[in-house]
Amino acid sequence: MATYSVRDIKGITSEVATCDKCGRVLEQAVIVGPLYVGPDCAAKLVQKSRSVVSAAADAAEVRRQRDLSAAKQREADRQAYERRKLDWFQTNYGADNLDTAVEKSGKDWEVVFGEWWAWENSGHS
Ligand SMILES: [Zn+2]
Repeated sequence: MATYSVRDIKGITSEVATCDKCGRVLEQAVIVGPLYVGPDCAAKLVQKSRSVVSAAADAAEVRRQRDLSAAKQREADRQAYERRKLDWFQTNYGADNLDTAVEKSGKDWEVVFGEWWAWENSGHS
């Protein structure tokens, strides 16, 4: 069996219903490596006391939530960027993307890209 250490404790979640190790029904699962386990099984897996596991899981959960919200923010930023870009090309060239705008306008790729990029970096005025 794979062995785990306290560093493999990744957080706590209530999204998983049963322990991956013993199958017991859980209110909260401790995330240990790839496993979702109850607190007793987590303690056995990392060979520490339940209080050590609990403290490590709480700390890891704070980091996990921070990572999740950072990932959501990056995704929201990316989608907003894609929307701005589409709006800009539609408004300025009646095109859905750079290649079509270049084709329709007969301008150089660098010119069209430069216009878009200047607008994108100007605060979208
Ligand atoms: Zn278990």
